[in-house]
Amino acid sequence: MSDAIQITGLRKTYAAQGNAPAKEALKGVDLNIRAGSIFGLLGPNGAGKSTLINILAGLVNKTAGRVTIWGFDQDVNPRQSRAAIGVMPQELNMDPFFTPRASLEVQAGLYGVPKAERWTDELLELVGLTGQANAYARALSGGMKRRLLLAKALVHRPQILVLDEPTAGVDITLREMLWSNVRKLNDQGMTIILTTHYLEEAEQMCDEIAIINHGQVVIRQNTRDLLSRTDGKTLVLDTGGPVTLPDLPPGARAERRPDGRLAITYPPSRLRADQLLDALRGAGIPILDVATEQPDLEDVFVELTRD
Ligand code: ADP
Ligand code: MG
Repeated sequence: MSDAIQITGLRKTYAAQGNAPAKEALKGVDLNIRAGSIFGLLGPNGAGKSTLINILAGLVNKTAGRVTIWGFDQDVNPRQSRAAIGVMPQELNMDPFFTPRASLEVQAGLYGVPKAERWTDELLELVGLTGQANAYARALSGGMKRRLLLAKALVHRPQILVLDEPTAGVDITLREMLWSNVRKLNDQGMTIILTTHYLEEAEQMCDEIAIINHGQVVIRQNTRDLLSRTDGKTLVLDTGGPVTLPDLPPGARAERRPDGRLAITYPPSRLRADQLLDALRGAGIPILDVATEQPDLEDVFVELTRD
């Protein structure tokens, strides 16, 4: 199995409701997700990320297109395709009267996991809820609820785990715990798909990234190639005091930073740092210190989702 998920021509239009007009949330998405990868689905608010994920999860009906999960066409083999995927939703929706243990048992029942194959205790342990196993869900903190949602997504041992904004608004401890769990599961072979708007997180966690905007995939690349897309580096110089902005080789531009340093942005494909530094020395500009800045995913993201 090379692709965990294959999506072709996926469209979703939410019907008009009251005063709200119909909304075309996905406008023909094609996407393959390699088995065994950690795949990041990024995009601004309203881009269509949750819609896509909820279609994968079988929670939202698509308007058109084809979705194949772990080799099973969602329309032909709905049961098998659903069994291959576990979803940790963005919303904290849970029954306040169930204990974590009961929640996991009910969820396992929904997925038809036989009693002998359940791994409730291990799951509670995995997400650090052993001590709260028998507490009412309404007594759990927000972080504990999220951990329970992760455990629920795993009851049927899916091949693919989908996390929709798993770290939005969670504290650093929980975030680290989530990521170490995700890495552990991925090391064991699980394919991970996540949405996040923390770009630094995506940069560190994901092998491959798709950026979606207005219901369309604007780019899909492995993370390293995506980061090398923006042809811009910046030299930041301490000139020891105000200087007249010099004439620079074509392609480079200078800007004074609020802290007084001089920032020179240039395309490394066409200019070398030593050419720039020569030009500056030639103009009599003192260089007391130099730092360099590389573009990060944030820059790529802004460039690609600019309207
Ligand atoms: P994201 O997760 O990227 O923020 P969503 O998939 O939640 O984006 O939303 C995509 C678009 O579809 C948005 O304009 C949103 O308002 C709209 N939308 C989402 N869910 C519904 C729904 N149940 N009914 C109507 N419109 C919806
Ligand atoms: Mg969302």
